[in-house]
Amino acid sequence: MRHQIVIIGGGSGGISVAARLKRQLKGADIAIIEPSDKHYYQPFWTLVGAGIVPKEASERSEASVMPRGVTWIRDRVQDIDAERNQVTLATGGTLEYDYLVVTPGLQIDWHKIEGLKDALGHGGVCSIYDYQQSEKTWETIRNFRGGHAIFTSPATPIKCGGAPQKIMFLAEETFVTEGVRERSQVSFYTGGGVIFGVKVYADALQKVADRKRLEYRFKHDLKAIDAANKQATFCKTTDAGIEEVTVDYDLLHVVPPMSAPDFIKRSSLALQDGPLKGWMAVDHSTLQHPIFKNVFGLGDVIGTPNAKTGAAIRKQAPTVAENLAAVIQGRPLTQTYNGYGSCPLVTGRGKLILAEFNYKNEPTPSFPFDQAKERYDMYLLKRHGLPLMYWNLMLKGLA
Ligand SMILES: Cc1cc2nc3c(=O)[nH]c(=O)nc-3n(C[C@H](O)[C@H](O)[C@H](O)COP(=O)(O)OP(=O)(O)OC[C@H]3O[C@@H](n4cnc5c(N)ncnc54)[C@H](O)[C@@H]3O)c2cc1C
Repeated sequence: MRHQIVIIGGGSGGISVAARLKRQLKGADIAIIEPSDKHYYQPFWTLVGAGIVPKEASERSEASVMPRGVTWIRDRVQDIDAERNQVTLATGGTLEYDYLVVTPGLQIDWHKIEGLKDALGHGGVCSIYDYQQSEKTWETIRNFRGGHAIFTSPATPIKCGGAPQKIMFLAEETFVTEGVRERSQVSFYTGGGVIFGVKVYADALQKVADRKRLEYRFKHDLKAIDAANKQATFCKTTDAGIEEVTVDYDLLHVVPPMSAPDFIKRSSLALQDGPLKGWMAVDHSTLQHPIFKNVFGLGDVIGTPNAKTGAAIRKQAPTVAENLAAVIQGRPLTQTYNGYGSCPLVTGRGKLILAEFNYKNEPTPSFPFDQAKERYDMYLLKRHGLPLMYWNLMLKGLA
């Protein structure tokens, strides 16, 4: 099998870029390799976890988002041989390409937390980072009758870095309305060292945290769960080294460590060293692979220092589509990506801080007002506007 352009992954990045390429390169032979028959609007999972939308609202058939004229190969990539311009598929065959776009998202390393696999979904342990579990998270939050509610975030890069705190803010609000807040302690245990990477939004979030009386523990990375005794063990990084800290919980919302998919890590497309080792290497600006010039990457898989969000993909997709078209047509690359990412920080039902920023962590607001303030209209944007834009414009290559 051979196709001119092969795209790995039919998620947010793959579909957006395919739609753009189809329009831009008339008659191009484009194939998407995507094993799943479902496509998910993952930003809804935070709202599913808070009982605001049903999980089904985040799901559509993959067939319904596949751009017309693009060949859908329902298979999984096993390995990439970039030297030979070919990929190996899980079903055994190989597929050759002239140009490759790599956008398979990231891998959630559930297995790296001891005891998590068996504990998840029972005894107060939950996570919005999975379609089925997002619904169970709401069940867990709604049924919480008081005690210690812990929300975790790992030290690795993750998709939507704000989501672990958003679900905590929404849960705390539910504890208030359910009348259990006064007999509860609500804590955020994070492997990171700050509340948020961009100062103006960090200051705003600190005010929310103070108002809600939330306790923050930095440099605490979840390592193990003892479900029988309802205890969580963290690796705490101090100047003297790493020490283990064990804490009792009644509710534990877990965000596991994340990494590039294994087939990327072992390919020659991966960064071979440095703090982002294993993630896909791309030029931060053009999103072209530094060695294999017929290969581009976008989305959660790339080793760039931006927030891994769908919002980032909205800016990356036009860059990849235009620069790939330029390579095919023998023109110089002209499009650049500035590291834009956005995090709609829901701080409660009807309240949202719309964080937008670039590689340098400089705010890049879209609206002519102070976006570091909690606003109702920005909440409506997240709840109604952004999903509409996603399904009707972004996936069609129009936004
Ligand atoms: C709880 C949560 C909240 C979020 N909130 C927001 C938000 O508020 N705003 C925002 O902008 N973003 C948010 N995001 C992040 C956003 O959803 C992701 O950044 C975005 O979906 C990444 O797109 P992607 O194409 O890189 O990966 P995905 O959309 O995950 O798609 C990857 C695709 O590749 C396929 N694939 C995987 N492995 C292979 C393989 N071996 N071969 C072929 N195909 C493969 C998968 O089946 C999948 O369809 C959130 C995510 C989560 C989980």
